[in-house]
Amino acid sequence: MAKPAEGPDVEGSRSSIIRKRRGDDATPNTKPILVMEEVYKYFRRDVPTLRNVNLTVERGEFVFVTGPSGSGKSTLLQLIYRQHSVDSGRILFSGRDISRLTDKSIPFLRRNLGIVFQDFKVVPHWTVFENVAIALEILSTPTRVLRGRVSEALERVGLAGRGNERTDALSGGEQQRVAIARAIVSEPALILADEPTGNLDPQLAIDILTLFEEIHESGTTVLFATHDHSLLQSAPHRLVVIDEGRVIEASHGLRAWSARNATVAETGS
Ligand code: ADP
Ligand code: MG
Repeated sequence: MAKPAEGPDVEGSRSSIIRKRRGDDATPNTKPILVMEEVYKYFRRDVPTLRNVNLTVERGEFVFVTGPSGSGKSTLLQLIYRQHSVDSGRILFSGRDISRLTDKSIPFLRRNLGIVFQDFKVVPHWTVFENVAIALEILSTPTRVLRGRVSEALERVGLAGRGNERTDALSGGEQQRVAIARAIVSEPALILADEPTGNLDPQLAIDILTLFEEIHESGTTVLFATHDHSLLQSAPHRLVVIDEGRVIEASHGLRAWSARNATVAETGS
């Protein structure tokens, strides 16, 4: 006799989880995914690291954030995932003010974010599967749903069938793919990538950028911080520049900014 079909049930559980993840209401959220209003961040009393930052990111955008080393790219992203809080101004995530969330509420914010770092931050002695699954385990996803979702995420990053391998046996580029799978497996609305190609060779860097572009094409908003000019030049995305703590849209003279900095970089090397 035929066994009871499991498929529809799994699909049912899965879509209800996706519905929950994608918002509290039935109506789609049309507010910008991110609004920064007059944001200041001080690490030193006298000089703000970020000054009067006004930035709106609409749903579905791919935005490069650039600027020289030490300009505040990581700080900008850290304010969004609440590693730090703003000293003044507001940050709205999907219309909700996250700049003054209580510590208790921060995990709820992070559930809606995928974060990818330069140094991967994978657990080396865990398997690939475990490194990705952790993102769903903390959301208490049922095991049978989790297994399918992890396989799907690994397939999306080009690591299908590699789940049982120890992560430290993988190459750097592959370890970054594991980190990206971990970031996307919970289908967050926004992915924050902080110099995700910084530890990789130029060709691998392009491959990883392409992967983020594919993730973006499937509907996820991406904020990608990099100081790598060859990457910025390889892809025509919106570009914001942090210069002396201010965030400037690329449309206001990026070419001049870029040319000036490229010359400085070449002269310096
Ligand atoms: P980027 O990512 O563009 O290289 P960062 O955001 O890391 O720049 O740093 C911007 C500035 O803020 C630097 O001058 C850095 O020293 C300072 N800064 C960043 N994080 C901290 C911190 N936790 N404590 C003190 N200063 C910090
Ligand atoms: Mg940085």
